[in-house]
Amino acid sequence: MKWSLRIRAAANAVNLSTAAGLLLAAATRTPVEKGPQGLILGTHYRPKLPLAGAFTVGNVIFYRADRAFIDSRPDLLAHEAGHATQYAWCLGLPFLPMYFACAAWSWWRTGDPGSRNFFERNAGLALGGYRERPTIARLPFPRKASAPTTHPTTRATGNSQ
Ligand SMILES: [Zn+2]
Repeated sequence: MKWSLRIRAAANAVNLSTAAGLLLAAATRTPVEKGPQGLILGTHYRPKLPLAGAFTVGNVIFYRADRAFIDSRPDLLAHEAGHATQYAWCLGLPFLPMYFACAAWSWWRTGDPGSRNFFERNAGLALGGYRERPTIARLPFPRKASAPTTHPTTRATGNSQ
């Protein structure tokens, strides 16, 4: 196993996010088995939440499907492995509030929790089965029809505050 994957596994062990994943697996009676890259794979995850076919807690990746499905979707595994790496960078469970904040931002910007979510983009939108959606203009930004294009540093001069 590559040294970076060993560091990820060690980091997620020390920051207790993998322990939290194993606790969730035990609480939900999700069978786990050793996977590639120091990952632990949970199969047949049954609770309704989260609304996802797969999700990650530390180095534990939960699937609703079986191992044959996991092995047939290396792209999805690569995406979820990216989230495992993000847990390590976030020092463990602080990943979760940051992830949900980014999901809320993405939802506001695109109507989709993944398209503008830093964590999903970083893990690979296409690998995770996300389609990139265009942003929604929610605030009425006034535009001058005939205004010439100005450099950003000269634009603020007309403001009164
Ligand atoms: Zn994802």
